[in-house]
Amino acid sequence: MSEATPARTRLSAIKGTKDILPREVRAWQRAEGIVRRIFELYGYREIRTPVFEATELFEKGTGQTSDIVIKEMYTFTDKGGRSITLRPEYTPSVVRAIIEHRLYIQPEPLRFYYIGPMFRYDKPQKGRYRQFHQIDIEVFGESDPAIDAEIVEMADFLLQELHVSDTETLVNSVGCRKCRPAYIRELRRAAQAVSGSLCADCQRKVTTNPLRIFDCKVEACQELARRFPEITGYLCPECEAHFRSFRAYLDLYGIPYRVEPRLVRGIDYYTKTTFEITTAKLGAQNAVIGGGRYDDMMKDFGGPDICGIGFAAGMERLLSVARLEKQSESFMFIAYLGDEAKKAALRLARGLRRKSVECLFEFKERSLKTQLSRASKLGAEWSLIIGEEEIKRGRFKLKNMKTGSQQEVSQKEIFDILTKRIP
Ligand code: AMP
Repeated sequence: MSEATPARTRLSAIKGTKDILPREVRAWQRAEGIVRRIFELYGYREIRTPVFEATELFEKGTGQTSDIVIKEMYTFTDKGGRSITLRPEYTPSVVRAIIEHRLYIQPEPLRFYYIGPMFRYDKPQKGRYRQFHQIDIEVFGESDPAIDAEIVEMADFLLQELHVSDTETLVNSVGCRKCRPAYIRELRRAAQAVSGSLCADCQRKVTTNPLRIFDCKVEACQELARRFPEITGYLCPECEAHFRSFRAYLDLYGIPYRVEPRLVRGIDYYTKTTFEITTAKLGAQNAVIGGGRYDDMMKDFGGPDICGIGFAAGMERLLSVARLEKQSESFMFIAYLGDEAKKAALRLARGLRRKSVECLFEFKERSLKTQLSRASKLGAEWSLIIGEEEIKRGRFKLKNMKTGSQQEVSQKEIFDILTKRIP
């Protein structure tokens, strides 16, 4: 190597991030199509917010004692000296947007959905990435427990449409600002008694927020936490009635569920309902969908006193367990020989694409046989063969790649055959 030649460095994607390659993108698009269709069926409308926000938004929203804020945020100082964070979750951003644009005064339903990337600096492993994608819904201004059940029912429908099997729905109530303090006191007392056996992180949580001990993934901590008092015994009459009614609506829908009193879901803002849907098809990271109610966030952010509820699902996890029907590629490959045929192919493709027929050809001098084998490898439904002879006669060979049958067609007939398939 001469001195002027720089050493070759292999550039690769950052740990915990993934390229979604063209061969995988079709599945993403199909799943996203299903997601959008279902969300819109329930009256949700898409909202898109920036990928980065002021760090303070998540500290205030997601919560100072959550693992996300303590350990997992991608935070940096920008050139203007502001502390910026790549969003680790979506709810605080949408609440900020609602307040900022006063969306709450509009006559539209306050049901929003979103599909996009999130960022968390956690230890990467199967099903856990540093950039991952969430689908997310949020409802504002509905305090009736019927909505809590309706979003679980929508999540259930979504999983059915994606053919995700072996699911289990876990539900809980984490109470409210009225009843939770008494429970936290009892929980702290129980945690303090075994503090020496908890991991260092959980020992800190005993003082900061013992509820977060339930999020710990260390087996010994989980074992100890199983003997801690359960929140369900401390709910105030309002939270208790809400939880009962939520479950009754789930029964009405015929959705089986299990009450899991330790389901606190890692985020500080939840009030009343929390839920999670897991699947046995995933390994350690078995939660596909998780959500809950957050009745105080809007007013804590300085907005009106409007309650909220929502859920999020990880697209990577959903896709790893979804069974999506393969859709056949329906495009036409144009195989041509010679310069005149190339010109005819260019003109023909231009017309066909304007009629929504997907056409593909490659600008390489290749034999007809090689071009047809390329067409078959690419999964073309049709191949059109144009040679000098065909141009002279004004008739081309159209080959159905699935059946192998071939017919001679005029330019007009090509349009008729290919465009009549398109509604
Ligand atoms: P959360 O925002 O923590 O309530 O998570 C909601 C859903 O997002 C989970 O059920 C997962 O499907 C997905 N999820 C959360 N964290 C990750 C991650 N680091 N990598 C991939 N998916 C994730």
